[in-house]
Amino acid sequence: MPVAVIFRCDYCDARPDAETQAALEAQMLDMRHGEYVDSGPGNWLTWHGRGLYGANRYSCGDHRGDLKAQLRETYGTLGWHPWAKGPHPWRGRRGTQRARELSRGIQGHNRPIRQPPPHGA
Ligand SMILES: [Zn+2]
Repeated sequence: MPVAVIFRCDYCDARPDAETQAALEAQMLDMRHGEYVDSGPGNWLTWHGRGLYGANRYSCGDHRGDLKAQLRETYGTLGWHPWAKGPHPWRGRRGTQRARELSRGIQGHNRPIRQPPPHGA
């Protein structure tokens, strides 16, 4: 059964446009920790918290600065993550360091192991 997830800006209660909504839904499949993620075209900002960085937080394009300021105030002494500067990754962007590492890891594990030639061949 399809489930509709309702996203709202934490500051003004705005709802994302349909395309941004789809981007936000897709992001929910990513396991991220302490990371900002951009979602276009509405220019929304997601804070993927988890653990000591708290719950996920969302802001519309107008309140990105408010969200960052609040996260830096709350979690700024715990690590560098709340201080990250944009442009932030967005789901689907290729070529990020994270994507390259992931890709390498997966390929590395699936690479066939070269067998030595059979004896006498
Ligand atoms: Zn807002």
